[in-house]
Amino acid sequence: MIVVMKSDATEEQIQNAISTIHDLGYNSHIIHGVLRTVIGVVGDERGKPHHLESLSVLEGVENVVPILQPYKLASREFNPENTVVSVGNVKIGNQKLQVMAGPCSVENEEQILETANEVKKAGATVLRGGAYKPRTSPYTFQGLGEEGLKMLAKAREITGLPIVTEVLDPVDLEVVEKYSDMLQIGARNSQNYALLKLVGKSKKPVLLKRGMSTTINEFLMSAEYVLSEGNHNVVLCERGIRTFENATKNTFDLNAIPVLKEKTHLPIVADPSHGTGYWQYVTPMALAAIAAGADGLLIEVHPKPEIAVSDGAQSLKPTKFAELMQKAHAVAQAVGRKL
Ligand code: PEP
Ligand code: MN
Repeated sequence: MIVVMKSDATEEQIQNAISTIHDLGYNSHIIHGVLRTVIGVVGDERGKPHHLESLSVLEGVENVVPILQPYKLASREFNPENTVVSVGNVKIGNQKLQVMAGPCSVENEEQILETANEVKKAGATVLRGGAYKPRTSPYTFQGLGEEGLKMLAKAREITGLPIVTEVLDPVDLEVVEKYSDMLQIGARNSQNYALLKLVGKSKKPVLLKRGMSTTINEFLMSAEYVLSEGNHNVVLCERGIRTFENATKNTFDLNAIPVLKEKTHLPIVADPSHGTGYWQYVTPMALAAIAAGADGLLIEVHPKPEIAVSDGAQSLKPTKFAELMQKAHAVAQAVGRKL
């Protein structure tokens, strides 16, 4: 349910509506829009004696509208305006596209500093790099852990780029929060509800990747877990899904971008690196994603992809990344966005 307040509702009337919602045994999530304030009411209606429709009699309330989708706070109905998420001083979800770039894994200080400088020079606005890696094999490189986070923090100090990095396990959340500006939830953890609830309690924004076999509805339900715990700063990331096609590592679901744009107010970033698995397909799909309405890109870049410890085949060299950025400028402009 959403309680839509009148455009001239007073702060007292808003507070009164919120306390009534709490008295009835529901949680409230408030959004101050440009024109009016809306209050999301979430909780299980079963067994409760009062119908939420009765909230419409409160002073200052314009109407009470049911949200039909299973996801509530993530839905466009709840918030018709696009949500803008701040990562450091970078804003994701408005006219300007943001590009997150960096290596799959942080490997050593030289590698991350060189990559950070190169991607910044080419126009990236957020630095990415994994310090806790979800690897298919337990015998391959698992990430540098806190040492890797410290290297990312040093790269931030030098370049000024905020950092997004994956939190793989609830036990690492505190340390990842300490060093990073944005918490990445990887595809494999996309439906790890315990972890989603924990990052929902964090003050850091969340980059939520789509699971490799989750539907768009399931993806939005994962976002709902984070939002329902009070963290409204969620950016969705389409990173490809598993299909019968094996010419590419995953099938980059371009459809998901306009579909998500219709269904949710949350920003959407495209990751054609994991979406394709091969560097030569990354630029075309990055451009397609911008044309389809993505709010940003996530691109794996490595100074020497041939010796990368993970995802070398899909990593762009800095020169190729700079070319991508040039082309992306033109496409962004063609669809009324900026880069
Ligand atoms: C990554 O970003 O390096 C990563 C592991 O991505 P995903 O979770 O999408 O596979
Ligand atoms: Mn990777």
